[in-house]
Amino acid sequence: MGRNCDCLPELGDHIFCRRKGGLYYHHGIYVGDNMVIHLAGKAKKLQPPNPCQECRNKGVINGEMAKTCLDCFLRGEHFFVYEYGVSYFKHKTREMGTCTFLTARRPPHEVVGTAVDLLDHDGFGGYNVFANNCEDFAMYCKTGFSGSHQVLGRIKRLGFLFPVGLVAAIPIALGYSIAKVITDVRRSHSPS
Ligand SMILES: [Zn+2]
Repeated sequence: MGRNCDCLPELGDHIFCRRKGGLYYHHGIYVGDNMVIHLAGKAKKLQPPNPCQECRNKGVINGEMAKTCLDCFLRGEHFFVYEYGVSYFKHKTREMGTCTFLTARRPPHEVVGTAVDLLDHDGFGGYNVFANNCEDFAMYCKTGFSGSHQVLGRIKRLGFLFPVGLVAAIPIALGYSIAKVITDVRRSHSPS
């Protein structure tokens, strides 16, 4: 697991925190000034019923994208910093959705620039837990590539635990790759 402390994340950090008691992780990019940009999804209630003063002043909701303050992003949880460039073997031993062997070569200002740009243009397509999720968004900002290890890990675990799961995992994995290709194509054709 990445860094975990009470200090603020660093500019351009890909951070994540537990949601629903650890059922899954929510990911975002720390863009400075105590704010986080994340892909939140339309179905999820983006706008809290009583947005905090900071979110009222500086928050942005644009379609599926949101900029909220760190506290509203964390919802009482601690943040972890997603790790890039971990070795293949280390990656295998870690919980999926917490690190990647991809390297994050982009400098912080470029990571933040990409996140802001996607927020401005509501530019990451619809939230889709298999093909286009919050981890994909943050990874795309950091590397220019996307690919959710969290989802892949879940599919793998499904296949590992139950033979029945394996049967279910094949169409899910297939659906994932097809949806992925469609989103990637859509993304590469959309004006930047
Ligand atoms: Zn807030």
